[in-house]
Amino acid sequence: MTSPATPAEVIQALQQGNERFREARSIHPHASQARLHELETGQTPQAAVLTCSDSRVAVELLFDSGFGDLFVIRNAGNASTPGSLASVEYAVEALNVPVVLVMSHSGCGAVGAACSPEHLLTPTLMDHVGHIRNGLKAGGLAFIPPVDLSAAYNLHSKITARELINTSALLRERIQSGQLEVHAACFELHTLAVTWLGVETGA
Ligand SMILES: [Zn+2]
Repeated sequence: MTSPATPAEVIQALQQGNERFREARSIHPHASQARLHELETGQTPQAAVLTCSDSRVAVELLFDSGFGDLFVIRNAGNASTPGSLASVEYAVEALNVPVVLVMSHSGCGAVGAACSPEHLLTPTLMDHVGHIRNGLKAGGLAFIPPVDLSAAYNLHSKITARELINTSALLRERIQSGQLEVHAACFELHTLAVTWLGVETGA
């Protein structure tokens, strides 16, 4: 990818990268020491990605990208937190990324815990997971067992994207001026595919 890119170009590049990975055709771009030396004086990543800390969700590998391509923010369950929002805003304001992608994943322990609140958690984890649970509740997820976890992963991604936008005047301004798109997606561990769940605009 070359900068500056439009949101549509960035989405296409991410989709093509995931397709290469899925089909075992990864080219591992921008992985050299030379590439990193080129970036020593600055970065122009093409997208900010808020995703889960899960060790299986290795963002650069899933999108067959490398150094300098993606500004990645991770926490357990890719939740909207003050820290994750601040990081997204930095990527938008200082680095001018045209795309913010919120990506949940199948088999997510944090979203699973949010759907099964009987799990014993530390107070900090309860707070974090409770936030995810409240979002899912407000989003209309049925909590009658067995909870549809697949629906929960998808819904959580969309809800987090909306929360980021609703909490950030900067994101709303950039969306309204056409400079930014915020997308939701879900990575499926079994198929290795990223399912794109559409553009979010907030509210
Ligand atoms: Zn997870």
